[in-house]
Amino acid sequence: MSEFDGKVALITGGAQGIGKAIGTLLAERGATVVVSDLNLEAAEETVSGWTSRGLEAMAIRADVASEGDVKAMFDTVLSRVGKVDILVNNAGITRDKLLMRMKDEDWNLVLSVNLKGTFNCMKAALSSMSKNRRGRIVNISSVVGAIGNPGQANYAASKAAVIGLTKTVAREYASRGITVNAVAPGFIETSMTASLSENVKETLMKQIPQGRLGVPGDVAHAVAFLVSEGSNYITGQVLHVNGGMYMSG
Ligand code: NAP
Repeated sequence: MSEFDGKVALITGGAQGIGKAIGTLLAERGATVVVSDLNLEAAEETVSGWTSRGLEAMAIRADVASEGDVKAMFDTVLSRVGKVDILVNNAGITRDKLLMRMKDEDWNLVLSVNLKGTFNCMKAALSSMSKNRRGRIVNISSVVGAIGNPGQANYAASKAAVIGLTKTVAREYASRGITVNAVAPGFIETSMTASLSENVKETLMKQIPQGRLGVPGDVAHAVAFLVSEGSNYITGQVLHVNGGMYMSG
C-alpha cells in the first residue's frame, strides 16, 4: 500500500516546474493527480508521462483567476473522480517592474492569479472537503512575500497575502478535519527564474547559506509532508524551503 493510495490531489499550474514536481511525487506515492493548467496541451503531456509509467492522473484546463473556470473544473473533477482530498494552489505568475513603472494591469493580473486564484480554488474545494470532514490544502507562497524584493511589489504583495489567507482559512476549517498550510520557496530553478542573469544568480547565491538555488523536488518534498497523515496536527503554518536564505522566527 502506498502512502497516498485512494487519495485525489489537484495541483494548479501543475504542467511544469514546481507543480509538476509535486504531482510527480504524489503520483509516485499512489495519489490520483489532477493536473490543472492554463495550457491544456502541456498538462496532457505531463499526465501522459505519468500514465505511461502506470501512475494515475488526468489533465484539465482552467484559469485559476476565473471563478467560472474554477467552478467548472471542480464540477468535472468531482463527476469523474468523486472527490478532492488534496489541493495544492501552485499556479503563479510574475510581472516585474519597479513600483513607479508598474502598470495597473500588471498589478491586477498578478493579484488575480496568485491571490484571487488561490481564493477561488479553496472556495470550490472546501465545500466538498467539508462534507467529507477531511482535506489538505497547501498554498504556494514565496520567500519574497516574507522579505520583499525590488521590482516585485505586485508579486510580493500577492504572496504575503496568501499567507494571511492561509492562516485565516486554517482557523475557519480546523474543526472540520481540514488543514491549510503554506510553503514558501526561495529561489528555485524553473522557467520562472530561468531569465535571471548570471550576475543576479551570483548575488542571490551569496545570500543562500547552502550556496545553491533550489530544485523543484526540494519544494515537492515539503508539500508531500504537509499533505501526509503525519502532519495531522499542523495547520496555519508557513514552511520555508530556501536553503537558509530567510529564517523565520
Ligand atoms: P512556472 O514554471 O512558471 O509554472 C507555473 C505554472 O502555472 C505554468 O504551467 C503556468 O502555465 C501556470 N499558470 C500560470 N497562470 C495560470 C493561471 N491563471 N491558471 C492556471 N495556471 C496558470 O513557475 P514555478 O517556478 O514552477 O512556480 C510555481 C509556484 O511557485 C508559483 O506560485 C510561484 O510563484 C511559486 N514560487 C516559485 C519560485 C521560483 O523560484 N521558481 C519561488 C517562490 C515561489 P503557462 O506556462 O501556460 O502560463
